[in-house]
Amino acid sequence: MKIPNILLIYTGGTIGMIKDPETGALRSFDFDSLLDKIPELKLLACSIETISFDKPIDSSNMKPAYWIKIAEIIDKNYNSSDGFVVLHGSDTMSYTASALSFMLENLAKPVIFTGSQLPIGDLRTDAKENLITSIQIASLQEKEQPVIKEVCLYFEYKLYRGNRTTKINAEHFEAFASLNYPDLVESGVHLKVNKEYLLKPKAGASLKLHKTLNNNIAVIKLFPGISKNVLNSIFSTPSLQGVILETYGAGNTTSETWFINTLKESINKGIHIINITQCSGGSVIMGQYETSTQLKEIGVISGKDMTTEAAIAKLMHLLSKNLSTKQFKEHFESSICGEIS
Ligand code: ASP
Repeated sequence: MKIPNILLIYTGGTIGMIKDPETGALRSFDFDSLLDKIPELKLLACSIETISFDKPIDSSNMKPAYWIKIAEIIDKNYNSSDGFVVLHGSDTMSYTASALSFMLENLAKPVIFTGSQLPIGDLRTDAKENLITSIQIASLQEKEQPVIKEVCLYFEYKLYRGNRTTKINAEHFEAFASLNYPDLVESGVHLKVNKEYLLKPKAGASLKLHKTLNNNIAVIKLFPGISKNVLNSIFSTPSLQGVILETYGAGNTTSETWFINTLKESINKGIHIINITQCSGGSVIMGQYETSTQLKEIGVISGKDMTTEAAIAKLMHLLSKNLSTKQFKEHFESSICGEIS
């Protein structure tokens, strides 16, 4: 039987960092030394090929141009690889995993993002478990077909759907959560695959790469006391095409007239406004309270139970598609790749 061929893509992040002896700050180092640090990789029942960003980055420097670079690497190696593991800093990993889920239409192979809270050379590192198990999961096959056929994120014994995750902790090993969607795989003595939750892509459809992303967008987190001036100034940004409004609870906002009017005028100018809850879990239900009824009436789009990370990626993706206002709303409110319930 042919063993799976996994492509390991190194973009940067703590997993491959070392401490600068002079400053004490963590910085990226050469990928070849990363592999030397994990001889265990040779024991896995798969072949591993590697590719690295020329200049690995701290993921705080992540941007759409790098998302495109990762998507292109996957596209170029799609036929020769059975699965992909992307080593990425944890800070913006959920954003990248979300973006890739929209950019890789009809994906039928695993793309697993992972990283670590401690560098791979650290005695107490979480990097080895995260990396080794990610490769094992990417290698899982049934009837010579990959078991996982979507973009995922693996961290601290759990595989999540990538576009459902959020970084929730800056120091715990359990750094991510997927509050609105169940875990896809749990890693204990055995790997427990929760098959009923896996994405089932269209049979026979070939991979389609979407490389255009429109970043003329803003995210506005509401807070009691948000001022008219600030809101007006954001909505008057030249070329602004979409705004994610992080609202309270089930999608509620202040119902003051100046606020609703600003949103209404912006929607009339063609700016898409998406309602996403500030809560880590649960869903926007516009109309449940009086404080969200008007939002629905003026044409605010419901982000339902999407994460802000997924909504940002989806907004950039859909804005590049020249959709009518009606089509845009319909597409945004339905699931493209499992990002919404
Ligand atoms: N700042 C690092 C990064 O996101 C943190 C990490 O890797 O966990 O690249």
